[in-house]
Amino acid sequence: IKRTGRNGVRRFDATLDQALERTAFLTREFQSALSKEQLSIVYQPIYHLKTGELSKVEALARWTHPKFGEISPTIFIPIAEASGQIVPVGRWVLLQACLQGQQWGEDLGWEGTVTVNVSPVQFAHTDFTEQVKEALRLSGLPAHKLELELTEGVIMQNPTLVQTALHSLRRLGVEITVDDFGTGYSSLAYLRDLPIGCIKIDRSFIDDLASPRRAPQYAVALITAIVSIARTLDLQVVAEGVETQEQMEAVRGFGCDFAQGYFFARPLDAQHLAGLLKRVQPL
Ligand code: C2E
Ligand code: CA
Ligand code: CA
Ligand code: CA
Repeated sequence: IKRTGRNGVRRFDATLDQALERTAFLTREFQSALSKEQLSIVYQPIYHLKTGELSKVEALARWTHPKFGEISPTIFIPIAEASGQIVPVGRWVLLQACLQGQQWGEDLGWEGTVTVNVSPVQFAHTDFTEQVKEALRLSGLPAHKLELELTEGVIMQNPTLVQTALHSLRRLGVEITVDDFGTGYSSLAYLRDLPIGCIKIDRSFIDDLASPRRAPQYAVALITAIVSIARTLDLQVVAEGVETQEQMEAVRGFGCDFAQGYFFARPLDAQHLAGLLKRVQPL
């Protein structure tokens, strides 16, 4: 605690108390969010940068509280992880996304992939592979149309457990993506040792490309290096958080295979996303 006089210290404690109280409150509220049907899923398209095809769709959880409105997943996911609620919630998101992907396949002939974020807690507290098998069985979605997004943190937290799980998931035909690539301070060995098919370059690197002509050299160098590693290891590359035409053209120029971001579309509800599925993006 930085002492800035008696009032300063007291103010700091009050803020901390407030934060802890807010977390405790949200933790209680989130316990019943699923059963009270306050959770929903939005879907954000991921486009192939050569063909303009909508190749993948990322499922993102949403919590609409009756009193406080939309609460960001950056707030409720950590809360759900701490309380263990992420286990039933993650299972629910996975099943909903598979059902939705299967329906888009049946109704619209969409051949793309649905991607689902996986929390480290889901690996630690459940037989995650069984959960995936169950979601595929209940939805009828072919395994190759499901992709799981794991952060480097998930992989590093429990390498042995994750390695076993990833190999059995891969045997099922499910694709594995490393999310937020480049932010995890981890070694690159896991890219070679694990059955990973795709990496997502973190949005912070794309942000640094705000204006390609003035792009900081290091952002260009890093993205180029990441793409080169991916090529060597035969991995697909997604650029996330692409917000402008300039960024889209830059990441395409660097050789990224796919891109996702507000430039193309915000995350949308299933109905609105369906409207985009058959359309090819003019790039
Ligand atoms: P993420 O997996 O890295 O997801 C990408 C986030 O970036 C999403 O935020 C998305 O709405 C946002 N985004 C996409 N394009 C742009 C862009 O062009 N500009 C900017 N500024 N943002 C963009 P969202 O939906 O708020 O989710 C935040 C994080 O919460 C996710 O980051 C993910 O880590 C976590 N999350 C969301 N849903 C789930 C879930 O079902 N399970 C788990 N375990 N985590 C989830
Ligand atoms: Ca993700
Ligand atoms: Ca990400
Ligand atoms: Ca991110």
